[in-house]
Amino acid sequence: MGSLKFYGGINEIGGNKILLQEGDTKVWLDFGQSFNQGDQYFINWLQPRKSEGLKDYFEFGLMPRIEGLYAEYMLKGTEMCYEEPLFQGVFISHAHADHVNHLKFVDPGITVHLGEGTRFFMEAMEQTSSFSDYGFHMFSSFRTGDIIKVDSLEFEPIHVDHSIPAAYGYIIYTGENTIAYTGDLRAHGPRHDMTMEYLEKVEEAKPDYMICEGTRMARVGRRKNLSEDGVAKGVAKICVEANRDGKMIVFTQPGRDMDRWRTFYEAAQESNRILVIHPKTAYLLHKLLDDKHLDLPNPISNDRIRVYYKRKRSGTYSEKDYYGWERSYLDNIITSEEVKKDPAGYIVNLDFYSFAELIDIHPEPGSHFIYSMSEPFTEEDLEEEVLHNWLNHFGLKYHQLHASGHLSRQELEKAINRIEPGKLYPVHTTGAEKFKQIYSSVEVPEVGREYRLN
Ligand SMILES: [Zn+2]
Repeated sequence: MGSLKFYGGINEIGGNKILLQEGDTKVWLDFGQSFNQGDQYFINWLQPRKSEGLKDYFEFGLMPRIEGLYAEYMLKGTEMCYEEPLFQGVFISHAHADHVNHLKFVDPGITVHLGEGTRFFMEAMEQTSSFSDYGFHMFSSFRTGDIIKVDSLEFEPIHVDHSIPAAYGYIIYTGENTIAYTGDLRAHGPRHDMTMEYLEKVEEAKPDYMICEGTRMARVGRRKNLSEDGVAKGVAKICVEANRDGKMIVFTQPGRDMDRWRTFYEAAQESNRILVIHPKTAYLLHKLLDDKHLDLPNPISNDRIRVYYKRKRSGTYSEKDYYGWERSYLDNIITSEEVKKDPAGYIVNLDFYSFAELIDIHPEPGSHFIYSMSEPFTEEDLEEEVLHNWLNHFGLKYHQLHASGHLSRQELEKAINRIEPGKLYPVHTTGAEKFKQIYSSVEVPEVGREYRLN
């Protein structure tokens, strides 16, 4: 008889850590970082010490104490003794932090299964961000259509549309039971066909259990529910206005949402502008050239793309001022001086923490700023206030255009009632109880409790 235990993703959006056991076989579905767990102790720059492994997490009960799971070097300084791995694998749904970030604690002897594209995103993060480190692992990558066997368990990963490429949902066959795990998914993106394909396959598989994300069950966003196509239409409209007035367009977008990136890239082509990107984006695009399914442009040779370099140390854009990985794109450099000279020539990607560059770029009043992000800003958010202070200072027009990475409540209701799982476990949501309003057989999981599979 099998069982499920939920160690993360309960009463929170993200942080999925779900343990599936069948006989002696134990595997994890995702091993992500919680976005807000521990924020009563850690905030902004006050964070668990990197050098101390799990010690700081155990102090506040932020990670479960589970034997045979963690890497030996992560347990140093804690009262837990190292044990050889007692788990047979981790299956990752996609490369977002709330699904992969705590892999760094996992014993290198436990195989990590993930989509081929997911590896590219993780490698790019490790190379370009000092905050990203997933640890040492044996990685085993798959594509849709593969079946991965772990002892008597069979995993069928199927691509889904989400706000990062290479996202997967799973159908898992235990011999006795069939379990669907959705990961994160949406039905209004450019690849909604993939999500539909997954949901149809789940329906055919007649799952006994379904572990389903519910990000949008509880959220009452301040913003409109746009599709990616809706975002593209909004951006196109702003481009027409900006071209007419000869104004600059600046935007902020989620770093690894390649659908959003393509939306701005295509808008740049349509409006006869150059897309100005961050070196990190250039590195990611370069890496993703290896993924033929994505069909993204080469940041070195594409004449619609230029790479924005901030002045560093010497102040002269000298090669030695930049990290090794940044230097590959210096041939395609654009500077603030150049952007400033031809405001109607560019669409400039600039994230909030790079806003000081606006002082050099100095867009004219009436230029446009598109905030193309999800909703990290809360009512009392100081960053939002500061962002608006900057926009007001430069007289920039504010636009908010974003498409969510998740199914809406209506879409969830429709999908679940077609699939009719024997039992539904909501995860990745603060609205788990609300699933009872849309489906008859819902069990709201509690952290660490064992749920037996009959
Ligand atoms: Zn997520």
